[in-house]
Amino acid sequence: MSTESLRIVWIYPDLLSTYGDRGNMLILARRAQQRGMPVEVLEVRSDQALPATADIYLIGGGEDGPQALGAQRLRADGGLHRAVAQGSVVFGVCAGYQLLGTSFFAKGVQCAGLELLDLSSDRGPSRAVGELAGDIDPRLGVPALTGFENHGGRTHLGPGVSPLARVTAGVGNDGATEGAWRGKLLGTYSHGPALARNPALADLLLRWATGAHQLPPLDDTWADRLRAERRAAVAAARA
Ligand code: GLN
Repeated sequence: MSTESLRIVWIYPDLLSTYGDRGNMLILARRAQQRGMPVEVLEVRSDQALPATADIYLIGGGEDGPQALGAQRLRADGGLHRAVAQGSVVFGVCAGYQLLGTSFFAKGVQCAGLELLDLSSDRGPSRAVGELAGDIDPRLGVPALTGFENHGGRTHLGPGVSPLARVTAGVGNDGATEGAWRGKLLGTYSHGPALARNPALADLLLRWATGAHQLPPLDDTWADRLRAERRAAVAAARA
């Protein structure tokens, strides 16, 4: 951690915050506090400079227009690139995932991404809307992904990243893989919010940020119930 407290930055809540993605910030802060870590949460709007010294940066989903504007501002600001160079953790969801790559399409126009992840996005034949599930890369030690997706883009991974998961329901990147990660950068199409539905993913980000190999377990009764309910919904839809 860069300072005494864990610093979490929510990037551009005025542009990128669909489907309850702000919940990712609440979950991270809460799970850190429950382990006795002091937490500082900063919500940085798109007209503000992005501090480069935080431990974890969160970027949510967004419609095409706000996504293009957000990417443009983040490129001009440079703070996220400096933070990544210093080893900060980044978690991007949907639009916030696509814009970490080299390029994406918004309103039919190809836009430059931040080039922090080796991936690019184009448009699919139809919107991918509904439950998203997958088996997460075993190297990450996180149980199956569950989420909700709603995106027109499809994402193609280069050799510089690994898929976050193999899709078992829904579309994700392309119907086969979902999300991507490299080092301490991780992106997913999963809303829900993702970290409420996948608390082990929240703990992975906390471990990356703190360097801890293990964190004390928490009571995840409600998260487990939610996960079981969503898994049952996916199974019922298939039957
Ligand atoms: N605008 C992007 C797309 O449709 C991302 C959507 C989202 O963040 N939910 O692909």
